[in-house]
Amino acid sequence: MADRDGLIWLDGEMVPWREAQTHVLTHTLHYGMGVFEGVRAYQTDRGTAIFRLQDHTNRLFNSAHILGMEMPWDRDTINEAQRAVVRENGFESAYLRPMCFYGPEGMGLRADNLKVHCVVAAWPWGSYLGEENMRNGIRVKVSSFTRHHVNITMCRAKANGNYMNSMLALQEAQRDGYDEALLLDASGCVMEGSGENVFIVRDGVLYTPDLTSALDGITRRTVIALAKAFGIEVVEKRITRDEVYIADEAFFSGTAAEVTPIREVDGRAIGAGTRGPVTERLQSAYFELVHGRDEARADWLTLV
Ligand code: PMP
Repeated sequence: MADRDGLIWLDGEMVPWREAQTHVLTHTLHYGMGVFEGVRAYQTDRGTAIFRLQDHTNRLFNSAHILGMEMPWDRDTINEAQRAVVRENGFESAYLRPMCFYGPEGMGLRADNLKVHCVVAAWPWGSYLGEENMRNGIRVKVSSFTRHHVNITMCRAKANGNYMNSMLALQEAQRDGYDEALLLDASGCVMEGSGENVFIVRDGVLYTPDLTSALDGITRRTVIALAKAFGIEVVEKRITRDEVYIADEAFFSGTAAEVTPIREVDGRAIGAGTRGPVTERLQSAYFELVHGRDEARADWLTLV
């Protein structure tokens, strides 16, 4: 990853990929206090376009605000940096990673006199959980790790440190032969995947956990909007593990994971044990949308 051609936006300048470096005493590397985004750009008939760019940038700034991090750039600059990395690297489609972190200007938890550095990188990234899984669904395990309690860390922020919990859960699930983990919150209710929000379908109604310890996913918001436009009832509520077991359908949503069907949880088939019809409809509407074929939502795409 570190050794390749291309350009990365770093602190206001486009720098060669190999030169986008930071010191080993970078503060965020030590304590995990930083914020980031995961964004995708897709090929459309009118050219490569970033999906919901402004929403991702807004969430990045909200994340920084939650952590009390002073952003050195305004939103327009970060939007332009994202367009530029896709354009100047000549990518037709890409995954984008904006990140803001404390530099090596000092050490210690007080984090005073530190500079906030911003980076935007992009690279081609296909289907996160695999093409085949997008058709047939993935196998999921309820994690032995609890998702963050709301007063331990704040999940409205997409903060670097929050992802240690995600990685522990994902590593455990994969070691046990599953594709992804499903994390419960401190009260035992279903919360989210390691990097995705979760939905279930039962009797034609779409349910998703209300946002306490889960990230306010932009794909989640998109799925909810698409479902409502189809006249599907959407309910945000506390969901228990057994409700997932007896759901007709289940799926994950996320920028990287897009809309990924779940065919099995803890060895129990979900519905027919394959991608269900509501999931398929929403998944296909999502792909139409991100590829610029949904005229009603064209303003969610920003050409690079
Ligand atoms: N939850 C977590 C923990 C995530 O990392 C992500 C991916 N950013 C999501 C949910 C989905 O968010 P989005 O749809 O904005 O990518």
